[in-house]
Amino acid sequence: MAALRARDLALPVDRVRPADLRDNFFDARDGRRHGALDIMAPRQTPVSAVDAGTIAKLFYSKGGGGITIYQFDPSRTFCYYYAHLDSYAPGLQEGQRVRRGELIGYVGNTGNASASAPHLHFAIFRLTPERVWWKGDPVNPYSVFKQ
Ligand SMILES: [Zn+2]
Repeated sequence: MAALRARDLALPVDRVRPADLRDNFFDARDGRRHGALDIMAPRQTPVSAVDAGTIAKLFYSKGGGGITIYQFDPSRTFCYYYAHLDSYAPGLQEGQRVRRGELIGYVGNTGNASASAPHLHFAIFRLTPERVWWKGDPVNPYSVFKQ
């Protein structure tokens, strides 16, 4: 957690401040731990990268996260996951390097998000030694932002 706090992550949703956040990491969702931070915001609110790094994967999960982005931090220790996006930023590609605060997409309700409650589902994973985008242990983003 200290390594992550030292990275001074930016909040990913436009106009959302730390005081607006609610910790829902430990909430039960479909019988499992949520393991992420939901940030409520109007549809099409800009979403920006919390850290510098590389776009690891652009993935569509119809019954899950919908339009999603997996991003590695520069040291490839952590993976940041952004889900339920309305769309990607124009031209966003896998392998692309991004800066902290760079526009990467827009808030939506794709996948299994409620149509009446658009939000960004944001997760952080500490990667396993394989360092692949689909394997990691969840870290509570709320604890990182509320430092
Ligand atoms: Zn969520």
